[in-house]
Amino acid sequence: MLGDHVIVYRAGEVIPRVEGAVAGLRTGTEQPIDFPELCPRCGSGIDRSQERWRCARGRSCGQKEAIRYAVAHDALDIDGLGEKIIVQLVDKGLIEDFADLFTLTRDQLLTLDRMGAKSADNLLAAIETAKTKPLNRVFCALGVLGTGRSMSLRIAAHFGSMQAIRDADAVALEQVNGIGNEKAPVILEELADLAPVIDKLVAAGVNMNQPGFVFSTPTDVEGEAETSAQEAKSELPLAGMTVVVTGAMTGPLSDLSRTEMTELIAKAGGRASSSVSARTHLVVAGERAGSKRDKARALGIETITPEELAQRLAGHLT
Ligand SMILES: [Zn+2]
Repeated sequence: MLGDHVIVYRAGEVIPRVEGAVAGLRTGTEQPIDFPELCPRCGSGIDRSQERWRCARGRSCGQKEAIRYAVAHDALDIDGLGEKIIVQLVDKGLIEDFADLFTLTRDQLLTLDRMGAKSADNLLAAIETAKTKPLNRVFCALGVLGTGRSMSLRIAAHFGSMQAIRDADAVALEQVNGIGNEKAPVILEELADLAPVIDKLVAAGVNMNQPGFVFSTPTDVEGEAETSAQEAKSELPLAGMTVVVTGAMTGPLSDLSRTEMTELIAKAGGRASSSVSARTHLVVAGERAGSKRDKARALGIETITPEELAQRLAGHLT
């Protein structure tokens, strides 16, 4: 806790470390910090065994919040599954985690307050649709510590399937951009902890693969012929390109959220980045694009409209 500031970190962000006190900046008004003795959410004890304190109940604490996160727009995007319904489903013991949603029956839904036949059918249809989401969305829904939506996409694009992710050891995980030797063991531990949830998802028929994934092996030292898989990858329209999207999307891309744009770029072989630098290959500047487009122009980086991107990716738009 630094003075009066509250710092909010999103999942997947690198958390800076406190390296020491800067006694010279003290004004004499500092107060000692009262560390919590109990979990502020549920009142249970606190597990202090690691640097980051967690509720002693682990995943059982914040169960409803975890389910809300899993069904949110950037994860499984299940329409019609608001907070009130989630609270009822959990309180009635119909679900323990988001994987249980996939085995809910119409009769179970009809026991909920203000749930008519039509809403129940719509909700069941939305849950059914969520089964076909790409792996990065399913992985994101798991809420693995240290992995938000962009890290989930990187992991899914790197491994291609949930099975490959589960088979990975720390060394294999560290091949993913942004996972270092501190994060890898945490992800492994989380995945072991989540094994029953993942098993339920698999059993329910939820998609466990990343569409467009092409298995690649590192080029050998002799630099011999590329594998056919690598050739296929290098033929993608954005192969090897770092792409920045800025402004509001228009034309065929107007309905895509930033997450969906990132997914589209990855599917086309590129990598989405949020800032323009000399290493940026392409900037997609939509309506009201500002400083990023100006910077791209100043750096001589190719800048195109959302319509032009849609044309280039014609074969990859679903
Ligand atoms: Zn708690």
